[in-house]
Amino acid sequence: MPTPRVLVVGIDGVRLDLLPVLETPNLDEIANAGFLAPVHIDDDTPTMSGPCWTTIVTGVGVAKHGVWGNNFSGNRLGVFPDFTTRLAGEQGLRTFAAGGWEPLFLARQGGPVFAAPSRLAYIAPREDTPQGWDECDQSVADEAARILSSGEDLDASFVYLGAVDETAHFLACGAEYRSAIETADRQLGQLLTAVRERPDAGSEEWTVIVVTDHGHRDEGGHGGRSTLERTAWIAANGPGIASTTPPDSLRHADVAAHVYAALGITPDLHWTLDGRPFHSLTPQTA
Ligand SMILES: [Zn+2]
Repeated sequence: MPTPRVLVVGIDGVRLDLLPVLETPNLDEIANAGFLAPVHIDDDTPTMSGPCWTTIVTGVGVAKHGVWGNNFSGNRLGVFPDFTTRLAGEQGLRTFAAGGWEPLFLARQGGPVFAAPSRLAYIAPREDTPQGWDECDQSVADEAARILSSGEDLDASFVYLGAVDETAHFLACGAEYRSAIETADRQLGQLLTAVRERPDAGSEEWTVIVVTDHGHRDEGGHGGRSTLERTAWIAANGPGIASTTPPDSLRHADVAAHVYAALGITPDLHWTLDGRPFHSLTPQTA
């Protein structure tokens, strides 16, 4: 039996409507082998990174995890931990989380979300600008690729890229924003190559999930209820993910649920996950 492994790549603030006109060969490869489908952010969830990423990695919604904005104080992550913490702490698996947004990884702004993965790589942006974040993401991708390709026993990993969102906030959704999405796709490609180059690649079976947290208004910005802000997406491939019919009614909470399923773990009822594995979802009718 091959060893199941999971990589989740989170790219902040990528608009679904722009993907068809951009050069994103690595995302396309995942979509072609599996699916890329829209996520309608739950109506009770602010279209902000804090609540959306927390839902994605815990598998429960805001009413449970209690993260309603980008200040994470008062959260209930102790009861509803992220998958890297749950898998390492309760399932004896090895997990990895990497990225540059402080409250996801450090005890800042009421964080961290990733409380206790087996391995953590936090790399601070030099400054909160598109350039600072571009360099930060490249360092994150380099470091994550180094660790993933090393053959270290890592059952589930999460890698966060933030420059796309930062670029939209500073420069709106124009040429720089589009270019940032294409850069993130190249960094995704680095991670996919790292996985393929692992010494034990032949005895491993990888599930790769790529996900964004929210969209952006044309002028840059989110948090409101417009369709552009409320539309996110998930792309995934791996065992049990059909390439023909993308799942309908995808939700952010499905990501963590699918991570558990891909590793062969049946969630304890007490986890009260709100998401479901992708392959249990109703296929879209053509
Ligand atoms: Zn943002």
